[in-house]
Amino acid sequence: MTKPALTPDEVAKQAATAGDLAELDSLVSGCRACPRLVEWRESVAATRRASFREQEYWGRPVPGFGPADARLAILGLAPAAHGGNRTGRIFTGDRSGDVLFAALYRAGLANQPTSVSRDDGLVLRHTRIFAAVRCAPPDNKPTPAERDTCAPWLHREVALIRPTLRVVVALGGFAWAAWWPAFSRVYDQRPPSPRPAFGHGALARVGDTGPVLLGCYHVSQQNTFTGRLTPAMLDDVLARAKGLAGLA
Ligand code: SF4
Repeated sequence: MTKPALTPDEVAKQAATAGDLAELDSLVSGCRACPRLVEWRESVAATRRASFREQEYWGRPVPGFGPADARLAILGLAPAAHGGNRTGRIFTGDRSGDVLFAALYRAGLANQPTSVSRDDGLVLRHTRIFAAVRCAPPDNKPTPAERDTCAPWLHREVALIRPTLRVVVALGGFAWAAWWPAFSRVYDQRPPSPRPAFGHGALARVGDTGPVLLGCYHVSQQNTFTGRLTPAMLDDVLARAKGLAGLA
């Protein structure tokens, strides 16, 4: 039987109960709080792209991926309709993920350069990847209300890895903006005003306790196909992130 949808308040309460990442991942995966996104993710899963017709789509919220003692986090926007929404793992099974995981492998942060399915043996080192919004949105554009409803999942995930987290790489302006409420909630600090502007290579260090925020153009096809974001640029960001995280 389909679970009833949580209200935004109930999402926040439920997220706060997660005692570890496994519990959080399980709770996230069952969330149905945003009617538009639930309808979209499930209709994509039912219709399927022709090239994936034989595959069973995940069609649910996509949890984060990576170890609980991560020193480095990579924050994206939301799962892709035929990527994470198909495979059940963030950035897995699409061109964006091909670029990202190849770079993580070159940086020594992944044991293999590809990410194709949840059982492909991929292991991340020191790195947790998650998205600001956990369900695939139409046109990759969540509404502000959907972003805010989903935020407690992100905030709890950051809180759970806070003891080791040193650097957050924000992929694109949406993730950069989504970081500040997380920072405020988890680290109990006021974000700077005005907020630091997103840019590729932009760095924001606030206070003594929070992690460093590092900006990177999103690994979308729009950026990688046009050369706005090259593999070398991604390598540079990850090398910098590793240095800031004490992993170099
Ligand atoms: S976007 Fe987030 S809050 Fe909304 S249904 Fe998906 S997991 Fe739940």
